[in-house]
Amino acid sequence: MFNSTSLRFIFGKRALARLTPLVAAAFMGLAGRATAQEPVLNLYSARHYQTDEALYTNFTKATGIKINRVDADDAGILARLKAEGAASPADVILLVDAARLGKADMDGLFRPIKSPALEAAIPAQFRAKSGPEGTTWFGFSTRARVVVYDKLRVKKADVDTYEELADPKNKGLLCTRSGSHPYNLSLFGAVTEHLGEAKTETWLKGLVANMARTPKGGDTDQIKGVASGECGVALSNTYYLARILRSDAPEDKAIAGKIGVVFPNQQSWGTHVNVAGAAVAKSAKNVSNAVKFLEYLASPSAQNYFADGNNEWPIVTSVKVNNPALQAMTGGSFKSENIPVSAVANNQTKVQQMLDRVGYK
Ligand code: FE
Repeated sequence: MFNSTSLRFIFGKRALARLTPLVAAAFMGLAGRATAQEPVLNLYSARHYQTDEALYTNFTKATGIKINRVDADDAGILARLKAEGAASPADVILLVDAARLGKADMDGLFRPIKSPALEAAIPAQFRAKSGPEGTTWFGFSTRARVVVYDKLRVKKADVDTYEELADPKNKGLLCTRSGSHPYNLSLFGAVTEHLGEAKTETWLKGLVANMARTPKGGDTDQIKGVASGECGVALSNTYYLARILRSDAPEDKAIAGKIGVVFPNQQSWGTHVNVAGAAVAKSAKNVSNAVKFLEYLASPSAQNYFADGNNEWPIVTSVKVNNPALQAMTGGSFKSENIPVSAVANNQTKVQQMLDRVGYK
């Protein structure tokens, strides 16, 4: 193919100079593409945190690979990928929650990759199951799904397991977001792994019977519902709690003063833990840059930015966080479940059917 030297040879240096700048640029662009992979990476991200800017700048500084970013929420990214099909320019996709990563994987939106560095850095529990072609997605931070309760009305001992949330003693107290939200699909998928399908369905029926109100809003709305007295107990991801606990706003300080937080199931299978993660897009044009980016995300400095930007824990176990809100919440450490998040994600269809049967909105 042509490179700039051969173009000069064909057209002559003066002739090339006489071409309109646009045409010349087109030829040079063509030449560039033919000689080497362009140092760019097209990133579709469902994360939008201040600290992510540093994350991307450091990658470009270290590798010379420029990042073009498309920011949208998870549903927006998945819809866009499906609409673009094979023509999609996406190289890397960042999504939050294993249920969403698992769904995108089932829909064939990811390209399996082989990276010994990633396999070594990311615990097998927190990535897709590897096949002969490689691994489709990797978690890069963890969050826990915990219980929030009204310190005045509810005893901690009555809500320190997921199972007890369905106990008649908690009737009229429970608030959750929609059962079909990925965070709940994942939690219920995890419970299905731990208890089996029949017991999980009975448990879900018990949750519905204990509702203080029809499921609505996000996790922060459930926390506010507990603080306002409308709810006695609720479920939330840890980073929403950390945001409130780190806030200086008087209304957040008031909320923090009213609620208690429990990491459930410390005496049994542990608290449910989920991931935010990334994958190489099925139709990626810059595959090696994409793999480099994922490997970069597992590096200690990137792990700090990635996790701390959303008050999460780094997935690489050797990387330690210094997040005061997370530290205060856990008192140092907690027992987390040890089932693969990919199995949790794969239960979501089954879970949705159970939700429909028990009338969990
Ligand atoms: Fe969230």
